[in-house]
Amino acid sequence: MFTVRTRSAGSRARTGTLHLAHGDVQTPAFVPLATKGAVKTLEPRDVAALGYELILGNTFHLLLAPGPELVAQMGGLHEFMRWDRAIITDSGGFQVFSMGHGGVADEIKGRGRGRPGGPAAPRTGSILAIEEEGVRFRSYVDGGERFLAPEGSMAVQAALGSDIALVFDECTPFHVSREYTERSMERTHRWLERCLRWHETRGPAGQVVYGIVQGGVERDLRAISAAAVASSACDGIAIGGSLGQDKAQMHEVVGWTTEELERLAPDRPRHLLGIGDVDDLIAGVELGIDTFDCALPTRLGRHGVALVPAPDSGWRVDLVKGRWRSAPEPILDGCGCPACAGGFSRAYLHYLLRARELTGLRLVTLHNLWFIARLMEDLRAGVDAGRLPEVVAALRGGAAPGMDARRNGPMDAERSEAPNPH
Ligand SMILES: [Zn+2]
Repeated sequence: MFTVRTRSAGSRARTGTLHLAHGDVQTPAFVPLATKGAVKTLEPRDVAALGYELILGNTFHLLLAPGPELVAQMGGLHEFMRWDRAIITDSGGFQVFSMGHGGVADEIKGRGRGRPGGPAAPRTGSILAIEEEGVRFRSYVDGGERFLAPEGSMAVQAALGSDIALVFDECTPFHVSREYTERSMERTHRWLERCLRWHETRGPAGQVVYGIVQGGVERDLRAISAAAVASSACDGIAIGGSLGQDKAQMHEVVGWTTEELERLAPDRPRHLLGIGDVDDLIAGVELGIDTFDCALPTRLGRHGVALVPAPDSGWRVDLVKGRWRSAPEPILDGCGCPACAGGFSRAYLHYLLRARELTGLRLVTLHNLWFIARLMEDLRAGVDAGRLPEVVAALRGGAAPGMDARRNGPMDAERSEAPNPH
């Protein structure tokens, strides 16, 4: 289901194609979130027009509402939401365990409140019990008690009819002890085998399954977990769990893991869960990641923050700020997205965002997803042309994706040395 086209000489980066039941996906690719069955503020045709071939639906949320039975009755998630390209569904484990471990979604991805040496006991949330059999939790929708097990997660994903299903895992946060991380990882490996056993006889035709590497920030545990997942019959491999407390540690943990996977399962696709900052996407591609999913580009868009080629500002500009009140320029000159090419000024977007007009959220979301789609195109073109280091240097120096990052010649060199205009 995965063919590698080009391997980069100086890094683990590679281009390839995922061959899925609902079409091919060119990799490396970013995967926008359709958490509750919609990419927020957009229609499927918008998402396709931006160039995306794969989106991610959320098993946990769709399980609680509208429920897998209804989605199956309506013809599966593709038909229900009217998206005819590929869908990956997560297993629900991340959301279930985020409740139990106490809102660690950000912490797990190294953005949050985790402190080394801090309290080790998980805070109590809506999780009622973590058992070998599965997890008991309270629904945020109706307060009712629910139970999710590896087999149940696979059954929900089968009912949704996704192209890629993820196995059910425990997403261990940063603040737990090494012993907890290790015990949890071993249980995740047992759950992997249960998921694969269930899927072997009852999984829908054409659906492939990704295992998930855990092991927190412990190098030996990541290696053990990579070996366990690589030796299983899964079709692809995702990297999950705590990736550390900052970007440097995250890149290190991902690097350890892809190094093992490159050795043990070089031909299986690799997905990095929940990462989507521009600099992390670039680093992830260099480390050999094939697909990424993250709420960030769309969530930022809904908060009025647009992605721009300004590395020193975290590739972001906050359009809600007063300085844009009468700015006539678009978000990004030369950008081909519906917001910029449509001639909408920063002043107009600023006004819409302040007035809480939905059109404003939609336009910035379109721009952000356009920006990320062009970024991934540039990285793919760089790998295929054997010029990834130059493309990466240009992007890190402030080149605009889709416009000048792939250009040859002295301009790139000048750019990367020039002070950042932003
Ligand atoms: Zn734009």
